[in-house]
Amino acid sequence: MIQINIHEKSCRGCQLCVETCPTDVFAFSEETQLAAVDRIERCIECLSCAFICPSNAITQTNYHAVKNFYWDIEHVKKLGSFL
Ligand code: SF4
Ligand code: SF4
Repeated sequence: MIQINIHEKSCRGCQLCVETCPTDVFAFSEETQLAAVDRIERCIECLSCAFICPSNAITQTNYHAVKNFYWDIEHVKKLGSFL
């Protein structure tokens, strides 16, 4: 099964991964202002979270690449705020 890791020191708490994931894998902690992998069993291995993360904080291992069918252009546009 896919493993997803968020590098805590790289995460800037933008929540783009939370908003982008089509299957609601991530949770966001108001206390720490960081995203976390919460429901890995829902992951469909689309890799959109790593694609959207402006900090390159998300890495995936042990996955089978599938078509990146979930690229939401509105979320991609938000990237401009972080560059
Ligand atoms: S997209 Fe990246 S920087 Fe933004 S909350 Fe998710 S892991 Fe953190
Ligand atoms: S790979 Fe796709 S389904 Fe899995 S956590 Fe990332 S955005 Fe969600």
